[in-house]
Amino acid sequence: MTLHPDPDLRLVPFLDLAGLTADVREEVLDRWTELVDDTRFIGGEAVTTFEDSFARYCGAGQAVGVGNGTDAIHLTLRALGIGPGDDVVVPTNTFVATVEAVVLAGARPRFADVNPATLLLTSETVEAVATPSTRAVIAVHLYGQTPDMDALLECTRHLGIRLVEDAAQAQGATWAGRKAGTFGVAGCFSFYPGKNLGAWGDAGAVVTNDPILAERVRSMRDHGRSGSHHQHVVLGTNSRLDALQAVVLGAKLARLDGWNRARRDLMAQYRRLIDPSVAVPIASQPGGEGVHHLAVVRVRDRDRVQRELASHGVVTGIHYPVPCHLMPPYATYAERRLPEAEAAAREVMSLPMYPHMESHDVAYVARRLNEVAGRRGPA
Ligand SMILES: *Cc1c(COP(=O)(O)O)cnc(C)c1O
Repeated sequence: MTLHPDPDLRLVPFLDLAGLTADVREEVLDRWTELVDDTRFIGGEAVTTFEDSFARYCGAGQAVGVGNGTDAIHLTLRALGIGPGDDVVVPTNTFVATVEAVVLAGARPRFADVNPATLLLTSETVEAVATPSTRAVIAVHLYGQTPDMDALLECTRHLGIRLVEDAAQAQGATWAGRKAGTFGVAGCFSFYPGKNLGAWGDAGAVVTNDPILAERVRSMRDHGRSGSHHQHVVLGTNSRLDALQAVVLGAKLARLDGWNRARRDLMAQYRRLIDPSVAVPIASQPGGEGVHHLAVVRVRDRDRVQRELASHGVVTGIHYPVPCHLMPPYATYAERRLPEAEAAAREVMSLPMYPHMESHDVAYVARRLNEVAGRRGPA
């Protein structure tokens, strides 16, 4: 076989954790050495220090570290007393964990559609599916931007239900100058390695201004303990934030704003260079400032475009190919078609996006995308 290497070929990964790791490596390894010598692996100062700095960063009263983002949502719902007999409104186009957490809490997900330009919930799409059994809505800050939080707060007040935020993709995003995670009764975060603020393993947190809710989640993450080691007062679980991960998160938090600024610049460059007649970037939500966890465009003939970009060295992703109401474990809760989310699932494609991405790589991806998506594939 003769190879005809493309002299112009660049390899652009979807995500590059190595750059983020390098920025904090020395600092983390130094503190890890102290921690290992100390043998304080669970709880302790490393965890409370990170909880305090993350609460301060968000502008929230408290942060409670937990094992992962799914538990952050699941424990928040349980701590709010939401369970069997209750409905929780969720957008169907989200990472499965949002819905999983509702079902794990014993409640029923009520799937809502989204605004076709931003792919975010709106007060109208929430009101269209809420019932008298609805106790809460989970606003998902998809791809790193919040929905119109004023409209959602107004809508949840009017319906008499709780607003919970799934801010797993939005560490540092703002709406009207206020940080994601601080609008509803609780903000739920994941620190999975690929998130904007990511651990070197699994981790998560709940932020809230409600001291009673914070205390309940604190107890539930630690086997329902209250007060002493052998006092178990509520049904809990084991979902604590590891001290080793708290150290990583503390070091990375100090750099998060800089990394988010880099993401904004990269996204602005994508918007300038991508031909909107062949690929349409997800619209920004006016009133907020996103942190571009993912750089998502809509294209026709997505699978071909994705394959051809891969042949040019550009790795892309799909977030998400199947709306949750069409997944086997959750189809039983689906009560209607959700046309905007279903159409988006066929067209969304996530381009490479990571803070250390070089601007000539963005230019290369945009040029290849314009070429490939602008050409009609074989019918
Ligand atoms: C990552 C993510 C979660 C779940 O977080 P884990 O830490 O993987 O449990 C929940 N919701 C959304 C929108 C996410 O992107």
